[in-house]
Amino acid sequence: MKKENLQKLEKEYKSCQLCPELCENRIQVVFGGGKPDSSVLLLGEAPGLNESQQGIPFCGASGKILAKLLGHIGLTRDDVFITNTVICRPPNNRNPKAAEIKNCRSRLEETIKIMKPKVIVTIGNFATKAIIGQAGITQIRGKLFDIDLGGMMVKVVPVVHPANLLYNGHSPVILAQMQKDFETIGSVIDKVGLSKRIVQKGLGDY
Ligand code: URA
Repeated sequence: MKKENLQKLEKEYKSCQLCPELCENRIQVVFGGGKPDSSVLLLGEAPGLNESQQGIPFCGASGKILAKLLGHIGLTRDDVFITNTVICRPPNNRNPKAAEIKNCRSRLEETIKIMKPKVIVTIGNFATKAIIGQAGITQIRGKLFDIDLGGMMVKVVPVVHPANLLYNGHSPVILAQMQKDFETIGSVIDKVGLSKRIVQKGLGDY
């Protein structure tokens, strides 16, 4: 049912015309992907070029890091559902504008209403602001927030965007922080009893 409802929502947004600049520049709308009935939703910022070309969220360089971080806690991207705060690629990967985030808000709310996730991982400042109402990701990364989303209580963990690792030359300090924050996500998932995670060591380079 969740799958069908998400497919229906995706169809509605495939030809969305709310943001003129994004419509003009996008290759396609990147609605989201993964497991529709997962209890874990990962929310990024906006699609990049690879995502806009392939129609799959986090399928480029940031996605590779994200997949490794999920692997670090015994999950794959097929165990979760992934979408973005804005589902069309902003030109030249600029930040999404406030009006665009607002335009894409009801789609995000509908997605959450259908999925009813128990845990939301907000990736970067834009997603974090959209869900918990505050940004400042470097201060609040890896912390657990209990958020009331329209009467639905959800556990939210903000994490630094994997692109940060790319901008910072794969800094081992940032990577260690990110792995620690994902371990927090793993224990939140365990606490709410969502899945059996199989954690393996030695996942190679990021
Ligand atoms: N960065 C994001 O925030 N989302 C994507 O889908 C890809 C890169």
